[in-house]
Amino acid sequence: MEWLRWPDGFVCLHCAHAGGWRLGDGRFECAACAARTSPTAGTIFDRTRTPLTVWFTACWLFASQKDGISALSLKRQVEIGSYQTAWAMLHRLRSVLVRPGRERLRGEVEVDESYFGGEEPGLAAGRARGKKVLVAIAVERTEPKGFGRCRMAPLPDASAEHLRAFLLDSVEPGASVVTDGWQPYRPATDRLYAHQRLVGASRAEASQLLPGVHKVASLAKRWLLGTHQGSVDEAHLPGYLAEFVFRFNRRRSRSRGLVFYRVLELAAAHDPVRYRDLIANPRPSATPRQPPGARGHPPSMERPPARRPWRGAGLRSSG
Ligand SMILES: [Zn+2]
Repeated sequence: MEWLRWPDGFVCLHCAHAGGWRLGDGRFECAACAARTSPTAGTIFDRTRTPLTVWFTACWLFASQKDGISALSLKRQVEIGSYQTAWAMLHRLRSVLVRPGRERLRGEVEVDESYFGGEEPGLAAGRARGKKVLVAIAVERTEPKGFGRCRMAPLPDASAEHLRAFLLDSVEPGASVVTDGWQPYRPATDRLYAHQRLVGASRAEASQLLPGVHKVASLAKRWLLGTHQGSVDEAHLPGYLAEFVFRFNRRRSRSRGLVFYRVLELAAAHDPVRYRDLIANPRPSATPRQPPGARGHPPSMERPPARRPWRGAGLRSSG
């Protein structure tokens, strides 16, 4: 955490003075104003009761497993005291994945919408009657075949206004946008994108004409039903979509360590996420949640202090 927060050495969060010393409890004391700062201060790890070692293990499982990890598996594998602590940890990690100002999709991009939830098999009876959520999907086409990166976001409806907002957020202006014959795509792409409209295509034929979005939609739905067993409510769908997109866009990454590093980097750069922001959900959920007061025992994964041969020692062997 020190390394990620202060790659060039400690800088005080209060007075911006560069320089200080590490205290016995891991915090740093500023040499100028004597303020004490934890390396986790101002990150998503701030003020959580979960030890950093447990957080790092959760980050590793989240980043390195092909399909991520469910809250239940995390609770079991890391011996976290309660389901809802594990659930909140994973949601904090999801919340850091969407970086403001990130690069938009380029080149030839398929765009379509798909309904998530509701009709899917395997959901509990209460969820089966639940509302379907319309999700916009954009996928880069690569030459000569195959797909590049994707973006997904829930849409209030498939109107030109909301489609245009999604496009502006996800696709670089000037790109070539491929859609089916849905009329609102015309005003949505007007003067921003080159629009290839597959006129006359019925919605049912779209899966053949837009294979990228069809593939991404079915993979994402299968992942929600598989890893998370469909226990995803509407309020938290954006977080799950962000996680799916993050992993999909790194599916060819050869180094899981680098994906893990990226998650930590984003987490260290992200503002703290309060528990009550995570559970903000106006609708009753299929998953019973306990209030924060009902936490289990604090997780324990005692570890000796980490050796950090890359710090301080320069290139000297730490042998
Ligand atoms: Zn200071």
